[in-house]
Amino acid sequence: MALQRTAGVVIHLTDYGEADKIVTLYSPTLGQWTGIAKGAKRSIKRFVNKLELFSHLDIDYSDQYALPIINQAELINSHLALRQNYQNYTAATLVCELFRSWTHANDHDPQLFSCLIWILERLCQHHAWQEAMVLFLIKFYSRLGYQPNLLVCATCQRLENHSGPFRFQASHGEIVCRKCQSATSAVMLSINTVKLLSKALVLPLDKLNRLRFTPSSTNEALALFKHYDRYLLDREGPSWNFIKT
Ligand SMILES: [Zn+2]
Repeated sequence: MALQRTAGVVIHLTDYGEADKIVTLYSPTLGQWTGIAKGAKRSIKRFVNKLELFSHLDIDYSDQYALPIINQAELINSHLALRQNYQNYTAATLVCELFRSWTHANDHDPQLFSCLIWILERLCQHHAWQEAMVLFLIKFYSRLGYQPNLLVCATCQRLENHSGPFRFQASHGEIVCRKCQSATSAVMLSINTVKLLSKALVLPLDKLNRLRFTPSSTNEALALFKHYDRYLLDREGPSWNFIKT
């Protein structure tokens, strides 16, 4: 029996039968990965308090079957503080839902994994969750290849302070200034929001805390990503509804 090992964050859990759990992780080496933890509901030593949503784990598994078997889990970080604040918990639930919707098996991206760890830790620190989510979302869609073009108006190729508000057009992932607008779009962005998001795109994760969003910029940006996600997936993920702006 070939034993393997990987790290990962639990992004989904379901009970299976009386004693087992089906566990989905996002792993920096395997991408989205699902295995079964047999006897997980009874085995105190191997699994208790480890197989929980948001837990960062090291697991040992064997993959001789179509559904790999998780033999053991070691807890790296439970992200327990997420459970003490309803809004931070729901924001983290949305993060897990996005990873389930957008990532695939055998398609790993260590940078995407770093984004996942970054947002969970940030939400654990009980910083303003809205701002943390905006910064996560801009990095997340960029890694997926859907980086919105926020540098200039897509029509006149300019970005001028007086040419806002801008409209975001999800079909092209671009903004159009007030003068060039012909089509309507539900998502309006102030010049301030556009500039903050553009800065977030180029800053590394460990420098993102330099940016300060006003409440209105945070709301505009969250509305943008909700709209963009619904357009790209052609459906609305249920956890978006719990995100209050
Ligand atoms: Zn324009």
